[in-house]
Amino acid sequence: MHISVIGTGYVGLVTGACFAEFGVNVTCMDNDAKRIARLEKGDVPFYEPGITELVAKGLKENRLSFTTDIAKAVDKALVIFIAVGTPPKEDGSADLSFVEEVGRGIARYMTGYKVIVTKSTVPVGTGEAIRAVIKKTQQEPIRFDIVSNPEFLREGSAIEDFMRPNRVVIGADSDQAVAIMKDLYRPLYLIETPFVVTDVPTAELIKYASNAFLATKISFINEIANLCEKVGANVQMVAKGMGLDHRIGSKFLHAGPGFGGSCFPKDLAALIQTGERNGLPMQIASAASRVNQNQLRQMVKKIREATGDVAGKTLAMLGLSFKPNTNDLREAPALALGQELLAAGAAVRVYDPAALEEACRALPKLQACRDAYHAAEGADALIIVTEWNQFRNLDFERLKSVMRRPLLLDLRNVYDPQRVAAAGFRHVSVGRPPLD
Ligand code: NAD
Repeated sequence: MHISVIGTGYVGLVTGACFAEFGVNVTCMDNDAKRIARLEKGDVPFYEPGITELVAKGLKENRLSFTTDIAKAVDKALVIFIAVGTPPKEDGSADLSFVEEVGRGIARYMTGYKVIVTKSTVPVGTGEAIRAVIKKTQQEPIRFDIVSNPEFLREGSAIEDFMRPNRVVIGADSDQAVAIMKDLYRPLYLIETPFVVTDVPTAELIKYASNAFLATKISFINEIANLCEKVGANVQMVAKGMGLDHRIGSKFLHAGPGFGGSCFPKDLAALIQTGERNGLPMQIASAASRVNQNQLRQMVKKIREATGDVAGKTLAMLGLSFKPNTNDLREAPALALGQELLAAGAAVRVYDPAALEEACRALPKLQACRDAYHAAEGADALIIVTEWNQFRNLDFERLKSVMRRPLLLDLRNVYDPQRVAAAGFRHVSVGRPPLD
């Protein structure tokens, strides 16, 4: 089978490279010529564990190719995945202009039956809108089917998530399209991946409902963490006690600076918009979003209280990407925190294993450092914002010898407070009672 993937960002490239690994012939198309030129040489423009090797293999074995030409991408493919961005508009609704542009492109060049699949996260009703765009643009009526196949991969473990998903959702209203999609995903059938086959609007909503639910879990535990701080309870034990209940589960119950990334904030906003448009306020999603915005303010307050006043202080921030194992800075809490701290008059030294250069381009006043210890030099506080593994076992003696004051703000609750105190540090974390 020959397929195409339009849009070679995190989702598109992982989708293309993984299907090539499954033995499918894949053409990846993007309108960013620089990106395609790099990819043709096997140079992946973002950090994601394992993707460079997978792209190299696909290229070498001639199952993966790249183009900027949509005609080429449409021509050979039976299945065309749309994996372009759907960024938020000012009112929170999803900007579908890229998706629609791709729809028009497909319509212009298709000469036979196609299965057109949205991988991008798109609001309920978009499948129908794409169908309308294609029909309107087609010169002559050529048959096609629309499928919604939302993607649930997580950056940082994207390949594993794609190859071993918890489930595959296929929304379609044609048996032929469902059969083709199942054939494409056959390798996952062999490992007994559950398939949810449904209609297009339901599939579209499954994605938003899933992300909103996960975001709600994070906001919920963050709110509980703030209450723990008031009443002297320990949020980690609360989360453990909750999570052992199988009806609740332990995932996404880690208190911290709040969620960021390219998905949760924007998908919550889009779901809230969909609710508004349908006269049904999404009250829980709205609360999750508000709590998340407040959580960042809580972190700034925490840093201010621990350091006295941040003006004139030197602060070292470890971890800038929105989560470990990615260089993605979209809606990263670290950038918002950095901005606040710089505006309040602090000097901010930063280190991140993958997102350093880009973060310093976004906020040029950040001082880029070589590693955690370099960042800590002369610092009044060390702040762990993103829990990369390399920050989980820091040498506190070495840190103490270079810092102005031994203060650790552990915004991800990475460290055991006793251990940090024993190393002579003051330790401030999230939702856990201080030792002093
Ligand atoms: P991205 O910004 O990394 O990539 C989008 C790509 O689309 C870019 O390379 C861009 O140049 C290209 N593009 C834009 N318009 C185009 C056009 N007209 N023709 C060809 N290419 C075009 O985005 P992403 O993070 O991969 O997300 C893509 C979609 O998948 C979004 O809807 C997102 O919500 C969803 N999603 C993302 C994740 C994630 O973890 N990043 C997970 C699940 C779903």
